[in-house]
Amino acid sequence: MKPILTAQQLSITVRRLAQQVLEDHIDLENTVIIGLQPRGIYLSDKIVAEIGKEIPMEQVKYGQLDITFYRDDVRNQLHIANATHIPFSIEGKKVVLIDDVLFTGRTIRAALDALLDFGRPQKVELCVLIDRRFSRELPIQPNYVGRSVDALVSQKIKVFWQDKDGKDEVALLDN
Ligand code: 5GP
Ligand code: MG
Repeated sequence: MKPILTAQQLSITVRRLAQQVLEDHIDLENTVIIGLQPRGIYLSDKIVAEIGKEIPMEQVKYGQLDITFYRDDVRNQLHIANATHIPFSIEGKKVVLIDDVLFTGRTIRAALDALLDFGRPQKVELCVLIDRRFSRELPIQPNYVGRSVDALVSQKIKVFWQDKDGKDEVALLDN
């Protein structure tokens, strides 16, 4: 495993992403933040917590989207738990989608589809911790990037979170 971000770097990067989102959205009045289930939530929780240090939490509209139902490859499977929680309309809002790793772009394409069930946003932006930038199969790019990584398709990015994995770290895994 080749280290990409140490615990300290990960923490600094998460704080920067939160600051960049705030910088572009100031008081978040017309903005909603949506973390993508399952693995984007660890990052979105942390970004929202950082934003909460700058503005009152009750001003932050934060939801979670599970796009499992919208993926063309799993649409026919039954009994998939839906972990979507978006208790507000996104009609006319600016949406900041948050996920851990951007790879082919197919998850985000599906998320854009799924979002339409909750209203038509004015604008959608994307914030990712890791951008696997040469692996895109769709014209989808992030607005906020923790770290760009040139990984081979055969390689995997491992994102470890303290709460879940017992450590904070991002590493490149050879296969
Ligand atoms: P995509 O749909 O862009 O091909 O893949 C992005 C989704 O798959 C993200 O939700 C992400 O969690 C997961 N993913 C894709 N590649 C990786 C990877 O190398 N490492 C991790 N941790 N997740 C990945
Ligand atoms: Mg995912």
